Parts: sequence; structure tokens; C-alpha cells
Amino acid sequence: MPSEFDLIAKYFTRPARNALLGVGDDCALVDVPAGEVLSITTDMLVEGTHFLPDADANLLGHKSLAVNLSDLAAMGATPRWFTLSLALSQVDEAWLTQFSEGLFALADEHNIELIGGDTTRGPLTISITAAGSLPAAQALRRDGAKVGDDVWVSGYTGDAALGFAHLQKRVTLPAGAATHCVQRLHQPQPRIALGKKLRGVAASAADVSDGLLADLGHILERSGVSADIELATLPRSAALSDCPDYSLAEQCLIAGGDDYELVFTAHTNRRADVVAAGRAAGIGVTRIGRIVEGPPIARLLDVEGRAIDISNRGFDHFRGI
Ligand code: ADP
Ligand code: MG
Repeated sequence: MPSEFDLIAKYFTRPARNALLGVGDDCALVDVPAGEVLSITTDMLVEGTHFLPDADANLLGHKSLAVNLSDLAAMGATPRWFTLSLALSQVDEAWLTQFSEGLFALADEHNIELIGGDTTRGPLTISITAAGSLPAAQALRRDGAKVGDDVWVSGYTGDAALGFAHLQKRVTLPAGAATHCVQRLHQPQPRIALGKKLRGVAASAADVSDGLLADLGHILERSGVSADIELATLPRSAALSDCPDYSLAEQCLIAGGDDYELVFTAHTNRRADVVAAGRAAGIGVTRIGRIVEGPPIARLLDVEGRAIDISNRGFDHFRGI
């Protein structure tokens, strides 16, 4: 049976590129670009809690890095380095091959380098810590939203949760829509390019991992403001618009998790800049409401501007996906 060191050498060691010293020593050594600070984030995926035992290893490699890259995107950071801590219940070389391929494919796409980690025996757990860098003053923090700001979202929300509902057989989507939504669930695309373009443009940002309203709520809480969101303006993918279960689709849209889009605010005089940022990053951006004074809970408005009561619409059902 291969030792821990053989496994690391075989699957997780590649020549250092940007790091001064990568995998193999007591610590990695890295240089932070002059005038920039590090932004550091960590996420853990546990078998049985975050993914099923039969989860595709390649997709798992992708997703475990993607969720960390999404945090870097939400900060506006340039991805730089990451570490990988793995608990493995057994040494399954086919699994390790697939996992590392999915992981490195996304790492290469975003030019982020694996510089170390830890490998141990235990219930399958994947923990990644990722670091990016950026000028401190340009970080897209959650506490920067101001009354009067527009609220924006990138791409479409709800598709991933709809894909999850489809897998759970709570809805049956048409074949094309099912493929699209399940791919959104398993292979989220972190909005790194958009986050970087929003530096100096957006006032605040967060990534949408727990649901649009929940993650917007984090911005509101940290900024001490409220938001009015117009339900009709929320961008909907074709798959979500055509969903046979309208009520489920709407729940996914505003409260489904795992989208890894960006929700952010910007001063109204930055509208053209936000649209230009989206265009340059190749992702749609949609204005969905505004920041107002009040408690840190977003209000959802109907087309007449009346608040919709969301408390009894089953949105809590989606928390924790
Ligand atoms: P230590 O005993 O100092 O913790 P280890 O024996 O755990 O060192 O690891 C040896 C080297 O391999 C270190 O450089 C560590 O960062 C790296 N490493 C261990 N596991 C992984 C992994 N899963 N992915 C990448 N690098 C790893
Ligand atoms: Mg160790």
C-alpha cells in the first residue's frame, strides 16, 4: 500500500510556479505582490454532510476548490495559492486520480497553485484553504453597503437548487433543463473575473452560497442597512422559467443555495461601470433593488411595490443544502 508520502508525491505535487517553495517542506514560502494584502478563506466538505458517498470524485475536486474560489471572487481578490487537507477512509487510487484531475483543472483555469496540505486517515473530508491578493482598499467587503446603493446579482440564481430538487425527485425537469441545473449544482463557476472588475466599483459584495436573500442578508447585517428587492426583476434562467413547479422555482430563485453567483451593491452613479464590468467578465449582471434604511432583512416587493410575506412560503426548507 502506498505511503502518505507516495500519495502526496503522485497526486498532489507539481513544480512550484509562483510560490518560492511549494509542497514538500515544513512550510510553503510565498511572496505577496507589493502593495497588496492576502485574502484568506477556508471551506470544509464532509462526506454525508456536504456530499453523498457515491459523489463523482472529479466533480468533488472541482467543487471543493470552486467554493473557496467563490469566496475570493466575492472579495475581489486575485487567486494565488491554496492548501488541501484530506482525510481518507481508504486509499482508492482511482478516486485520487479523478479527484486531483477535477481539482487541478479548475486550479489551472484560475491560475491558483497548490502549495501544501495534510493527509490523514479518517472519514472522507476535504478541507481547502485558499489565499488571494489585492490592494486592501479595494477589497469588496460585506460592510460597505450604503443607503441608496443599487443591489445587483450576477448570472442566475436558483438553478443549482433546482438541480438538487430534480436529483431528489421533488420535481422532474425536462432533459435539457435537468442537465443544465445539475451541472450548475456540481460544477459551479466562481466569478473571479467579475469580482476583480468590481474592485473600486462595487461598495459591498458576498457570494451566493446559502441563497440570494440569505447572503444579501449578510451584507445588510454587516452594513447596518435594509434592502428592497423587486421579485419581478430577479434574473431567471430558461430552465428555471420553464420549471413545471412554479412555486418551487420561485423558492429556488430567492432561497436556493449553491449558486456561487455574486450579490453586490454599488452607488447609483456606477451603473454603467457595473454593466461594463459584467461585459468584460463575460457574465450578465442585473439590478434587482436598492439599499434602504431599516432592519437587516431584505424585503421582497411585488410589481406594485407591496412587500410580499415570505415567512410562510417554505423558504427555510432550503437552508442548509
Ligand atoms: P508535516 O509533518 O510537517 O505536517 P506532512 O508529512 O504532513 O508534513 O506533509 C509533507 C509535505 O506534503 C508538506 O509540505 C505538506 O504541505 C505536503 N502535503 C501533505 N498533504 C498534502 C496534500 N493533500 N496536498 C498537498 N500537499 C500536501
Ligand atoms: Mg502533516
